[in-house]
Amino acid sequence: MFCPKCGQENSDSAVHCGRCGAPMPMTDGRYRQATGMPPATRVAVSNNLVWAILATLFCCLPTGIVAIVYAAQVDGKAAVGDVAGARAAARNAATWCWVSFGLGLFFVLIYAGLVIMTATFGR
Ligand SMILES: [Zn+2]
Repeated sequence: MFCPKCGQENSDSAVHCGRCGAPMPMTDGRYRQATGMPPATRVAVSNNLVWAILATLFCCLPTGIVAIVYAAQVDGKAAVGDVAGARAAARNAATWCWVSFGLGLFFVLIYAGLVIMTATFGR
């Protein structure tokens, strides 16, 4: 790891640069040493935002937007350390994703049914 200030090479676990004394940037390895936990635990809550957006685009717009709103809350809550709140928001986002997928599938089936009925009996 190189010092960002003077370019001196330091060991990866160095807290300060050996030449100029500048604080070294926090790496994953040092974070683990400092806290005893992998850094991923800070942001371990997956926000389901991708699924919420997909659900909105392809399934059901109103319920998909609810999922996006919850998914957007996850990162903010995780960032301030509210892991329980972030998990709850992620769970809500996932639930609304499934509602969207379910409704989307329902409407697709209804639509397909109408198309088939029209093609079969509509002449
Ligand atoms: Zn330095």
